[in-house]
Amino acid sequence: MAKPARKVKQPKYVHFFGNGKADGDGSMKDLLGGKGANLAEMAGHPDLRLPVPPGFTITTEVCTHYYKHGKRYPKELKGQVDAALEKVERIMQKKFGDPADPLLFSVRSGARKSMPGMMETVLNIGLTTKSIPGLVRETGGNERFVYDAYRRLIMMYSDVVMEKAAGVEPDEDQGIRRQLERLLEEKKHERGATSDTDLGAEDLRDLCEKFKARVLAVLGKPFPDDPEEQLWGGIGAVFSSWNGKRAVAYRRIEGIPDEWGTAVNVQTMVFGNMGQDCATGVAFTRDPGNGENRFYGEYLINAQGEDVVAGIRTPAPVNEASKGDYNRHEKSLEEAMPKAYRELHAIQRRLEKHYRDMQDIEFTIEKGRLFMLQCRVGKRNGPAAVRMAVDMLKEKLIGAEEAVLRVTASQLDELLHPILDPAAEKTTEPVAKGLPAGPGGATGTVVFTAEDAVKQAAEGKQVILVREETNPEDVEGMRAAQAILTSRGGMTSHAALVARGWGKCCIVGCSAVEVDLRSRRLKIGKERVYREGEWFSLNGTRGLVYEGRLPMVDAAEENESLHEFLAICDKLRRLKVRTNADTPEDAARARTFGAEGIGLFRTEHMFYGKNSDQPLRKLRRLILARTPVERQAAIAELFPFVKNDIRATLEAMDGFPVTIRLLDPPLHEFVPRDEAQLAELAASIGMSLEEAKKRGQSLHETNPMMGHRGVRLGITYPDVTEMQVRAVFEAAAGLLAQGKKAFPEIMVPVVALETELASQLQLIARVHDEVAKERGLKKIPHLVGTMIEIPRAALQAGELARHAQFFSFGTNDLTQMSFGFSRDDMGGFLQDYLAKGILPQDPFQSIDLDGVGELMRLGIERGRAVRKDLKVGICGEHGGDAASVKFCHEVGMDYVSCSPYRVPIARLAASQAVAMERAKGARSASKKAAARPARTGAVRAPRAVAAGSRNGMRPARKKVKVRG
Ligand code: PEP
Ligand code: MG
Repeated sequence: MAKPARKVKQPKYVHFFGNGKADGDGSMKDLLGGKGANLAEMAGHPDLRLPVPPGFTITTEVCTHYYKHGKRYPKELKGQVDAALEKVERIMQKKFGDPADPLLFSVRSGARKSMPGMMETVLNIGLTTKSIPGLVRETGGNERFVYDAYRRLIMMYSDVVMEKAAGVEPDEDQGIRRQLERLLEEKKHERGATSDTDLGAEDLRDLCEKFKARVLAVLGKPFPDDPEEQLWGGIGAVFSSWNGKRAVAYRRIEGIPDEWGTAVNVQTMVFGNMGQDCATGVAFTRDPGNGENRFYGEYLINAQGEDVVAGIRTPAPVNEASKGDYNRHEKSLEEAMPKAYRELHAIQRRLEKHYRDMQDIEFTIEKGRLFMLQCRVGKRNGPAAVRMAVDMLKEKLIGAEEAVLRVTASQLDELLHPILDPAAEKTTEPVAKGLPAGPGGATGTVVFTAEDAVKQAAEGKQVILVREETNPEDVEGMRAAQAILTSRGGMTSHAALVARGWGKCCIVGCSAVEVDLRSRRLKIGKERVYREGEWFSLNGTRGLVYEGRLPMVDAAEENESLHEFLAICDKLRRLKVRTNADTPEDAARARTFGAEGIGLFRTEHMFYGKNSDQPLRKLRRLILARTPVERQAAIAELFPFVKNDIRATLEAMDGFPVTIRLLDPPLHEFVPRDEAQLAELAASIGMSLEEAKKRGQSLHETNPMMGHRGVRLGITYPDVTEMQVRAVFEAAAGLLAQGKKAFPEIMVPVVALETELASQLQLIARVHDEVAKERGLKKIPHLVGTMIEIPRAALQAGELARHAQFFSFGTNDLTQMSFGFSRDDMGGFLQDYLAKGILPQDPFQSIDLDGVGELMRLGIERGRAVRKDLKVGICGEHGGDAASVKFCHEVGMDYVSCSPYRVPIARLAASQAVAMERAKGARSASKKAAARPARTGAVRAPRAVAAGSRNGMRPARKKVKVRG
């Protein structure tokens, strides 16, 4: 007997939704796109079953197939679309293309991740010369409405399908849409109409004829009068728009993979523009501007959705809470259509409860009947994100893990710095772009030297210091300026480090800016020339430079929700967060941001900036000393300054650990460049100018970053190390004697060899014993450790851990030396590397996981294999970068350390690392449970939380694609 033929299951390309049912659900974003998945969820989820106009989603797989097979569809698609169409027809009791009472559709895109405005939409599909009279009849003779719908269809279709999707490239301003818009304007002019709504049925009918004639003349083809042709044209155009210029560019910026593809949503048209009992609007379940828990939105009576977004008419508020100065006089939806409003209000509550997040919703009211067209997680600004997370946790809508994942690092950053008014930025073109080195915004007049900055700031002026690059001698001016702009340098250049430490707005590596110090002018590009004193505005968060003075808005430093939010983060995180602070004032400020210690105190900073005159003079004497006797005398003079500074910092940190790093920079950095200053210095120590110059020159190095710095100075001049270490122990012992707390950690920089470290630690131990004995103490509590900032040190971590009680990764130098990219010069070519996709991101901003990250992982493993309780932290700039902090958590560090203003960001990122880990654990537990035979019914996976980890311990990496 022949076996019965087995029925082969067709792949499912079309997913229906509507009438309380749906083939898919909200979790199927990969296949149905964000819009399609949410439509399915709204229409079919038993808790919702909202009034969604019925329709169907063609999956993203069809898009992938379409591009793989020369823009052809899978053979099953046509049949599946026809079947879904029939289903919709049955529900609506209307037929697509029926001359008597036509069913019309919208065709819209919908990718996995929202790409607002990047792809195409066609509305009113199915309207033809045959069905126009039927629709007029069905709408009670509303000819005006029907011709308005028809002219919109012609306009969208000819633009999207017949021009863009067909690959027609019109001349500037000669696109078909612009041409038709001009015809519309002419018509309005002819009729003396100010708004589209002033045109009557007759005008619109005439316009439709003119539109069709123009389409034929320009594109050489008639506008299709067949509903099927319109539908498939629309579907094809949406798939084509995935590879449109705008969409491709947007994907590059957002890192959206090309292979994701878009879905196509075909949905029954409902009309908000059929008359005064119709409306359309956009609303948010909470205020996206400040996070307040109140329903907030705008709507327009007698309009189609695009009119609200396009800003042609000023939308009215949906309720009292949404009224602003610009629309206070308008009737709210609550007043105009109370029944529909009540229904909408109830639905938005249900949606928020269901999705457990603020939703952005689109609705239409057709003849008093409410329809839901879209819902998605609503975009929000920083203050709103923080407030919503705190409130939703209190309302028990979400748990603590989800609350911390609801706020991004950049949203938190918004709350910590004053910013340029986003509304003003929207309408102003930047004149240049550089690297965003110090977040926040600033406005000021341009100055070109640090002295001018100090002088003008003292006169009460707001200035922006513009330099090719900065050096330690500029710090006073940098401090005085509102912001710093440099044409060279990268994210860890001097300007970037200093500005970030102060929370100052700063843009570096802005290569379009040419500084001419002599004529006190700056040039941007070929044409723009500015003089000293002209106003500029900087957005340091995005690296944008604007000419003129843009308004600023206050970021709420004293934001109540912020403190509550960070307390939630603190409860979750395992990583400690310290700060990089070089002065007692910075240390005190960092504590207000929540720092739990200092991870890097750069001793050398006491020789720059405020009150540095005296210690710098002493240090210079030390550097120029000709004999051991002279050097000893200079060291003795310097000692009290170093000790006082360390003591004040230890005291400000009140028992929290303070990592004091031994002198790091090459000595020539401290020798004055200015001849007059050098002469004065030489005279003060009885040296001739010539001799001082010679000494200065002898210190000169071709490549100082790899020169006589860090531990190497300590090897050559052990008495300098000894002085610093004595200052540390005496300061700590003094505080302890007063009953105060102090916990120093002495750190040796730029170590590459075990022998280097051993020799310095031997010296430190000796000085400790001496000071302890002098003070009658058995021990002065402290730790000794090393920085790991040279690849060799990471590889030799096992050997180093025999001596060091802690490691601190200096990822600025570790990145520089791993890549061989100079931290000070990379600005010159970084932009090319990023633009061409050679590098996915600036490795000085976010840890390069593949290279530098591997060295760190290895260093920690090897170090801990030798010393189990080895304390490990990071003090490079990456310690304040959210993605890098997550990595530090994953590799098992004990703490991160960053500039004071980034401490809250590190607290957030450290808590997110834990939240993601737990979510991952919960996901795999629920997978295992689901695999077991169910006893108590299906186990539902926890709701999506941002996924971060694809391969075990590591956060997901972006794929690198090289572009030509
Ligand atoms: C580092 O190299 O990461 C570091 C913190 O030291 P510095 O930036 O002072 O060289
Ligand atoms: Mg370093």
